[in-house]
Amino acid sequence: MDDKDKLSNPQVTIRTINQYGFHFRKRYGQNFLVDPHVIRKILRAAEITREDIVVEIGPGIGTLTQYLAETAGQVYAVEIDETLIPILADTLSEYENVTVVHQDILQCDIPQMIGKGKNCKIVANLPYYITTPIIMGLLEGGVPADSITVMVQKEVAERMDAGPGSKIYGALSLAVQYYAETYLAANVPPNCFMPRPAVGSAVIRLTKRTCPPVETRDAKFMFRVIRASFQERRKTLVNSLRNASDLGLEREQIEEVLRKMNLSPTVRGETLSLEQFAELADLLHEE
Ligand code: SAM
Repeated sequence: MDDKDKLSNPQVTIRTINQYGFHFRKRYGQNFLVDPHVIRKILRAAEITREDIVVEIGPGIGTLTQYLAETAGQVYAVEIDETLIPILADTLSEYENVTVVHQDILQCDIPQMIGKGKNCKIVANLPYYITTPIIMGLLEGGVPADSITVMVQKEVAERMDAGPGSKIYGALSLAVQYYAETYLAANVPPNCFMPRPAVGSAVIRLTKRTCPPVETRDAKFMFRVIRASFQERRKTLVNSLRNASDLGLEREQIEEVLRKMNLSPTVRGETLSLEQFAELADLLHEE
C-alpha cells in the first residue's frame, strides 16, 4: 500500500475516524501517529525484518501496524478498546500476517499468544498513562522479547537513559538499565500525533541483556535499597535508607557500609552507579 493511502496520511486517519464515528478516549492515552517519517524511524530503531515476530501494544486504528505488517514476519496487535476492533478489521484487512487481540496488555500472556519457545520484538506508540507498569512488566516478567522499541513521553525516555549524577537519574533508570541497554532513537514533537499530546515524545529502544550487568546476592533486596534511596531526593543516602522502615537499618550500620565503600557519610543516592548499589546492597545484607 502507498504511503498516501495509509493511515499515516492525516486525511486517511480523519476519514477513517469519521466513517466509524470513533471518539478518542483520553483514559486510554489515545494519540494516533500521523507521520510516516516517524513511523519509519521506529521501524529502523527496532531493526524489524521478515524474520521477526512483533507484538504491538495498542494498535489504535492500525497506523503503525500497517507498516509493521509490511516489514515483519508476523504481527500480534493487542488493543484494549473494543470500539477499535471493527476498525482494525477493516484497516488491516489486506494483511494476512496480522492477528488483532482484544485484551489489556497487562493481562496478556505473551508466550502463550506467540507460541511457546518463540521470541519477539515489542514495538509500540505506548499509552503514556501506563508506560512504567508496561515496561517494568515486560522486563521483570520474563517475557521472551529481544527488544522493546517504544514511543514514550520524552521526559520518561530521558529518565530511562540517564546515568549517575544527572538530575533525572533515579530508580527507573537503574531498573531499566539492569535489564536492558538503552538507545534514544528520536525526539518526536506533538504535531506528529492526532490529537496532539500536551508533552513532547521520544522513541527509545531497550535491548534485553542476556545476563545482568552486575552481580548481587539478592536483586530484589537491591531494588528495595534503590527505591528507598530515591524516595526523597534531597536527603542523604544515610537518612533515606534509615527512613525506609521495611529495610530496618540503623544509622551506624549504614555509615559503616559507606566507610567500607570509601563513600562520604553525606553522599546522595543519585551519585551512585548500579555497580555501587549492588555492592551497597550486598554489604547491607551482611550487616
Ligand atoms: N499505535 C497507534 C498509533 O501509533 O497511532 C495508537 C497509539 S495510542 C498512543 C495508544 C493505544 O494503546 C490506543 O489505541 C489505546 O486504546 C491502547 N491502549 C491503552 N491502554 C491499553 C492497554 N492496557 N492494553 C492494550 N492497549 C491499550
